[in-house]
Amino acid sequence: MQERIVIVGGGAGGLELATKLGRKLGRKKKAKITLVDRNSTHLWKPLLHEVASGALDSRLAELDYRGQGAREGFQFLVGTLESVNKDKKSIQLAAIKDEQGDEILAPRNLQYDRLILAIGSVTADFGIPGVEEHCYFLDSLRQADEFHEQLLNEFLRVNQSLEDGQNTKLSLAIAGGGATGVELAAELVHSVSLLSIYGLSHLDKEHLEICLVEAGDRLLPALPKRLASSVEKKLKSLGVNVILGNPVKEAKKGALVLSEGDDVEADLIVWAAGVRAPDMVKDWGLEVRKNNQIVVNDYLQSVSDSSIYAIGDCAGCKIDDERWVPPRAQSANQMAERLYKNILREYRQKDVKPFHYKDKGSLVSLSRYSAVGNLMQSKSLSMSLEGTLARWAYASLYRMHQRALHGWWKMFLLLMVDKLNHVVKPRLKLH
Ligand SMILES: Cc1cc2nc3c(=O)[nH]c(=O)nc-3n(C[C@H](O)[C@H](O)[C@H](O)COP(=O)(O)OP(=O)(O)OC[C@H]3O[C@@H](n4cnc5c(N)ncnc54)[C@H](O)[C@@H]3O)c2cc1C
Repeated sequence: MQERIVIVGGGAGGLELATKLGRKLGRKKKAKITLVDRNSTHLWKPLLHEVASGALDSRLAELDYRGQGAREGFQFLVGTLESVNKDKKSIQLAAIKDEQGDEILAPRNLQYDRLILAIGSVTADFGIPGVEEHCYFLDSLRQADEFHEQLLNEFLRVNQSLEDGQNTKLSLAIAGGGATGVELAAELVHSVSLLSIYGLSHLDKEHLEICLVEAGDRLLPALPKRLASSVEKKLKSLGVNVILGNPVKEAKKGALVLSEGDDVEADLIVWAAGVRAPDMVKDWGLEVRKNNQIVVNDYLQSVSDSSIYAIGDCAGCKIDDERWVPPRAQSANQMAERLYKNILREYRQKDVKPFHYKDKGSLVSLSRYSAVGNLMQSKSLSMSLEGTLARWAYASLYRMHQRALHGWWKMFLLLMVDKLNHVVKPRLKLH
């Protein structure tokens, strides 16, 4: 009988793995590869801040899981994972309901021989009061779309007030000075700078107040200090108010309460501070870290059950005694690649190899204004990048994800389509 390999989560890690295993094992009927995701389409998560700001129309970048499965040799099931039964080697998917709440599909059970969990992470609110109620998160396309819709409403409201002669401003607060917060701040400045082209001519950068709040004493802890300072300077030159070393202690309607000083008042607040694996992971009888990540061994297997694997943000994988693999797209990609190779090695009766994380560096985009980052050439040697070169390197990360999913030729065609869309479509999504 064919082995049943079930992958839950079709993100940066899970979709690449399903595609590769489908090509090598699924098409040849050596194993049955099933990918489960709660959505029917995939959007690479690092693009979400562009969706939120309107810089990207998500419909142009989404990938249909069923189409990918049909081409690449895996089966796709839409469904939300609810629970894992280790003893019965089965997972339960929640019922699917329509918008009125009527059931379309009853809860389903799915048997596996090998289960690979790749369900990503959610933003951590660290139990800070009011965050869940009053802040926007950018964990999913739905959340990014919700924020975008609200942002458009604010654009209209403030533009009209200015047209009516009122002295008003649009204020936005972002909690979290990591890559997501920094990139979102720059994208928002850029979006507002484009508004006049599309008829909202009263609202410009002068009427925009963005405040980026970070608990630590610097932005971008994953980057060298010099680059983080250069990002801070650039953001300030774009008019962003950067507050460092001042943790948020509460979120209220329309304001962040800081540990010291005045509240940061804002029409919209985005919470982008830290990640954790989804809470439900704690109920599956697997060993997890404090942030809910599933603790895995060197072969990416759960330390509690050797037929369950975890990759990407939901996996707690040690680099050494002190450090854990960071939740990044490159980690998900490397884990997917190692697991893919190991599964093939097993099929060829070869020994599997341990996973070693290779930090290839970090890149941060400041919208059309700049990009910065460092590329690691070896453990101790890194090359700093800024400006155009860094922007190209940043853009290539998404292209590498597309290459893994479609191959070089189709990746090139998609690049051409994006270039054409850039010419024929508006530069800002205003609906
Ligand atoms: C705005 C933003 C910008 C970022 N920028 C960068 C960057 O520049 N560089 C970088 O390296 N990283 C970046 N990241 C982090 C990066 O996106 C993640 O580390 C990466 O996507 C993790 O991959 P993954 O496969 O573990 O999870 P994801 O890519 O998040 O995929 C998880 C998948 O699981 C599905 N899923 C979740 N729960 C369930 C469930 N219960 N049932 C079924 N399906 C489920 C989801 O729908 C999703 O498709 C960014 C993140 C954000 C939010």
